[in-house]
Formats: sequence, structure tokens, C-alpha cells
Amino acid sequence: MTKISVVVPLYNEEKVINECYTRIKNVLSGISMSHEIIFVNDGSRDKTEALARSLAENDGDLKLINFSRNFGHQTAITAGLDFCEGDVVVIMDADMQDPPELIPQMIEKWREGYEVVYGKRAQRRGESAFKLITAKIFYRFLKLMTSIDIPLDTGDFRLIDKKVVKEINKMRENNRYVRGLMSFAGFKHVSVEYIRQERFAGEAKYSLSKMLKLASDGIISFSNRPLKLSYILGSITCLGAVIYFFVNLYRWEAMEKLPYTILLLLQGFILICIGILGEYVGRIYDECKGRPIYIIKDTVGLSKPEK
Ligand code: UDP
Ligand code: MG
Repeated sequence: MTKISVVVPLYNEEKVINECYTRIKNVLSGISMSHEIIFVNDGSRDKTEALARSLAENDGDLKLINFSRNFGHQTAITAGLDFCEGDVVVIMDADMQDPPELIPQMIEKWREGYEVVYGKRAQRRGESAFKLITAKIFYRFLKLMTSIDIPLDTGDFRLIDKKVVKEINKMRENNRYVRGLMSFAGFKHVSVEYIRQERFAGEAKYSLSKMLKLASDGIISFSNRPLKLSYILGSITCLGAVIYFFVNLYRWEAMEKLPYTILLLLQGFILICIGILGEYVGRIYDECKGRPIYIIKDTVGLSKPEK
């Protein structure tokens, strides 16, 4: 019998975990496939772990992975993909912003032969104007900067075939941007539209710094264009300086007080370039260290050996 795995990362989700479990379970019970739900507790500091543990102890199809600390959303998804056993895997958030009721529709597309079926947000409800605008700009900027095709306005809510999971699991890089890895893996992709609802309860767990980290991982892991950008901007500035020199060659007073503003601008520009370079170097450093992507404290119900 074909099997479906549902991977759910959880960080301080005590207010939503029960609702999340019930709704996913309801949907899976109506599907003619065997199933497993994998909860990845990403170092929660509230009652998420205790609640997840008691759910897992009462349901053999619910598995729990507890991280030793908070490693981040993308890392939690990674662990779920490492341990899932399904022929097909769904990744979704715990806060029910991704409706599990969409899963049957995704399975239909999978049966038609698509290996990745992602949820495309036709509408996003209950998000701040700031989040909506920054997300819109980010996805378009990402498209501009990277050469691989990362679909617009999609999150991590998606169904993927085990062939794709196998390929992604071979990519052991740090600072992961899972959607990008999936696009890199290729295969046949299709979208199904849905209306992204408000969070069922509790607050968003993505702080501004986590959002910025995700954005820079998305761009830097999939593009060298920011490096080229500094090169192009540098060339333009040099050209500007040469033109300035020739235009003012016979105007000594202009040459004398070569404006401080230009110097300041140049200094700022150089620092930005060093910063961009630093982002890349930092990631190379992360790879050199060869540390594990995540550390597991304990698990409940897993049949696959721990990695
Ligand atoms: N999450 C996580 N680790 C983190 C932050 C978030 O596992 O460090 C989980 C969170 O519990 C939720 C999902 O990632 O299931 C998406 O988080 P959130 O709803 O806060 O993100 P948003 O909807 O604002 O993008
Ligand atoms: Mg959310």
C-alpha cells in the first residue's frame, strides 16, 4: 500500500498542536493510503514537547523528533525529510495556515505524474502589511538574482515524491533554503492554489532576524550575482571618478575640494561589498566545519535508525 508522510515543524506551538494533529489526522483517515505524521519539535520552550509526546504515545502513526535546541524551521523540515518513509511526503506548518484539506487535491496531481505539487498562495489572510510587502519584494528579488526557477508566492507547503526527497537528502549543505533545493533537484512541478488563512492561534514564530536569514540563504545559496553586482557597481564608480577627473581637469578649485560626500559614498560602497563577500565567506566557513545540520535529543516511534 502506498504511504504518505506529513512533516510538521513545531516551535512553541502549544496552542495549535492539538488542533493541528486532529485536522491532519481527519484528512489522512479519508485517504486510501497508509500514513505517518512526523512532528519535529524544534527546541520549543513551552509545552509543545509534552503535548507531542503524549499524542505520539497514543498513536503509532505519529512520530516525534525532538531537537536539542532551536535550529530553525528549514532545519526542522530537513530532519523530517531525513526520517520520513512515505512514497509521497507533505510538508506543512503547524499553525494551520496551510490547510491539510488541500492534501487530497495535491495527491490527485501527484497521481497525474507530477513529482512536486506546491501550494500557491492566491490570497494571504491575517498577515501584516509589512510582511505582505516584504514577501512580495523578496520573491521577485530572488527571481531576479537566482538562475534557478523558484516559483513566486509559494512557501514550504508542498507535496513531494520520494524520488525528490531522496535527492534533497543527498544535499547536506548548511544554511538551507529547502524550496531552492527542490527547484534545484528539478522533476515535474505544478501548483495548486489556496487561500492562506490566519494563524489558528498563537503568534508567528518567524522573527524579523529569522526572516532576514531565510531571505539571505535563499539568495546566497542559489546565486553568485550579488558578488557580480559589487563588481559592476565598482566599475561604474571607477568610471564616474575618471569622468569627474577629466571634466574638472582645468577647474582647480573643484579638484581641490574633491567632495567628501564622494569619499563617504565610496567608503560605504566598499563596506557593502565587503559585507556581501563576508556573507559568502561565512557560509564557506560553515561548510568547512562540517558540523551536523541538527542534533536530536530523542525521538518517539521512529522505526528508521537515527542518523
Ligand atoms: N518554526 C520552527 N522553528 C522556528 C520557527 C518556526 O519549526 O525557529 C515552525 C513553526 O512552528 C511553524 C512553521 O515553522 O510550524 C512556520 O512558522 P510561522 O507560522 O511562525 O511562520 P509564518 O507563517 O509567519 O511564515
Ligand atoms: Mg504561520
